[in-house]
Amino acid sequence: MSEYCELCHSHNLTHLLKKDVKSKHFLNIVSCEDCGLIAQKEIPSDEELKIYYSHNYRQDYKSTYSPKPKYVQRAGQAALDRIQYLEKHLNIRQQTLIDVGAGGGEFVYMAKQRGFLSSGIEPNVGYSSFSKEQYGVEVKTAMLADVEESSADVLTLFHVFEHMAKPDEVMKKLHRCLKENGHLFIEVPNILQADASPHNIYFKAHLFYYSRHTLISMASPYFEVVNVEDQGNLRVLFKKRTQVLESTTLPTAQAVQYAQQRLQKKGWFEYLVLAGGIFKPLLRIERIVAEAFISKKQPKQILDDLLADEKQTSYFIPRRQVKRAGAWSIASGLGLITYEVLF
Ligand SMILES: [Zn+2]
Repeated sequence: MSEYCELCHSHNLTHLLKKDVKSKHFLNIVSCEDCGLIAQKEIPSDEELKIYYSHNYRQDYKSTYSPKPKYVQRAGQAALDRIQYLEKHLNIRQQTLIDVGAGGGEFVYMAKQRGFLSSGIEPNVGYSSFSKEQYGVEVKTAMLADVEESSADVLTLFHVFEHMAKPDEVMKKLHRCLKENGHLFIEVPNILQADASPHNIYFKAHLFYYSRHTLISMASPYFEVVNVEDQGNLRVLFKKRTQVLESTTLPTAQAVQYAQQRLQKKGWFEYLVLAGGIFKPLLRIERIVAEAFISKKQPKQILDDLLADEKQTSYFIPRRQVKRAGAWSIASGLGLITYEVLF
């Protein structure tokens, strides 16, 4: 948004230089003083984005995608968590669900196993063929523009909306693709999240940086809010409005001020001390230990095991918790030994 704000159309913009997490090159970031929206200054055209996502994104996968078991496991855990969230808030049986930007198809497959009539769209041909071959699910190599009107009861976008260049037009399209009383579930990185390293915020591929206030505001003409979670990532479950409103409900002055203060405070002290970032290396060891036990299973088997694990309990504790506890003990043991050796 180089000239004016995409949300409130104000020209009152502050320009910032921030480092791209991956390349360490500087990115031009713009923050709106009136509504608090944060975005990249240079927004690529639709055509450029289409080429970028269908060919270049995650170049290391190119046209063949064969993730390591640990990545399937992580994607599967995230998918299960999102399904549980939807199950908590919606009656999902026999609902048509389209996952926009379906990636490797883990969510589409697991949602189908849980009773959704799920399919997906994904611009990258490597990912979409992987989903079809490994999980036998329907994931079309397509963009949002290709989705038909009134074709879904539920639309999901996981870490996709922040990549989209024209958020207002996207909201309008999502509204049209949903059936009456349909739901939209969006998850994006949360710009106000305390629990994120200050080194891990600005990405070249992320065109917009939402808070709960700016995301809800962006959706306000088309959707009403059912539920918001913003402790970690930002998750909002929306319900389709019967009639599109003519005006946007902008964030209140207090919300804008709060966001500005939070962003100024966002630094290493907050991350390491207040948000517990100092413990992250221990969590990382826990994950490495836990992932060392994932055998070379087929991707589908990994996801089936995650679904089965959730149902099985040993002494009323889910097996996943037992594994976590085991991994934690080993990780703390390693931590203690390291401490003894060093000090
Ligand atoms: Zn604005």
